[in-house]
Amino acid sequence: MAPALPDHGAAWNAGAVPTAGDKDIESSDHDARAGEPRPMRVRVLGSAAGGGFPQWNCNCRLCEGVRTGSIRARARTQSSIAVTSDGCDWILFNASPDILQQLKANPELQPARALRDTGIRAIVLMDAQIDHTTGLLMLRESADALPLWCTAQVHEDLSTGNPLLGVLAHYAGVDWHELRPGAGAVAIPGADGIDFTPLALTSNAPPYSPRRDAPVPGDTLGMLMVERAGGRRLFYAPGLGAPEPHVIEAMATSDVVLVDGTMWSDEEMIACGASAKTARSMGHLPQSGDGGMLEWLGTLPPTTRRVLIHINNTNPILDEDGPERTRLNELGIEVAYDGMDIAL
Ligand SMILES: [Zn+2]
Ligand SMILES: [Zn+2]
Repeated sequence: MAPALPDHGAAWNAGAVPTAGDKDIESSDHDARAGEPRPMRVRVLGSAAGGGFPQWNCNCRLCEGVRTGSIRARARTQSSIAVTSDGCDWILFNASPDILQQLKANPELQPARALRDTGIRAIVLMDAQIDHTTGLLMLRESADALPLWCTAQVHEDLSTGNPLLGVLAHYAGVDWHELRPGAGAVAIPGADGIDFTPLALTSNAPPYSPRRDAPVPGDTLGMLMVERAGGRRLFYAPGLGAPEPHVIEAMATSDVVLVDGTMWSDEEMIACGASAKTARSMGHLPQSGDGGMLEWLGTLPPTTRRVLIHINNTNPILDEDGPERTRLNELGIEVAYDGMDIAL
């Protein structure tokens, strides 16, 4: 039995039924001005961390609660967003293992102009983690090589420790474009109105990387996206381990920040007996405590829209009636959900 869901409902449970957010967009006056650039827009395809919510083998209070409907929470697929500047062509950030389910739940990404078609014009990888890359294999039917944007480090990990690019070469293959953090903004075909600036973040490399526990710049990215016409700015970083000055600066100058919400506390997985790993050891800054994400988000200008994404299934903020969620509400910090639409 699906849990009772508040207002928005779980978009991916509803199949192809458009969300309330879709209706708002379609009825907005932007459509009336054909040919004019629309505002940059983000569709959250998956808002959970690796494992999703509920995680298949987990019976923690939250996973069990959402499965049985005993808590007010919504199910979430694994981490991915899509960004558009024209409402037709989309840039996919991370290819989640849940991508097929996500595309079914978001028919806007299928423009249906030909027998075989997609609205996805490029795929950007923020790191080489399984929950952000496995979906590439699900896109193997592509007629053309997949336009893939990632760093040399991520490309190497996906060619060696987790050699899915080698597997993909037997199908569509990829057309690789190297992202170089620190080298400034790049234009990505398909998002002609947006400049993308990759930033090196301190996080961790995947377990199958030779750089595990000794990451280098390029293992994990944040992305600053700036709308050329209107100047609106979005900062996206689903894996953020340390609030370094260049990260804080990118966040402080953004209109919307969509950042790492993996865990509430550093020892959360240890406390519930799920794992011996801390949030920080996995490259995720916890929300609570000294130097936590809430503290940093509190330093941003009051006009900044602050949204947590990549939520682990052990994170108590998933319980919409829990004290941690109430705290976020009081601070004006949002929690991303699948199907969430953010217009800048
Ligand atoms: Zn992840
Ligand atoms: Zn769980």
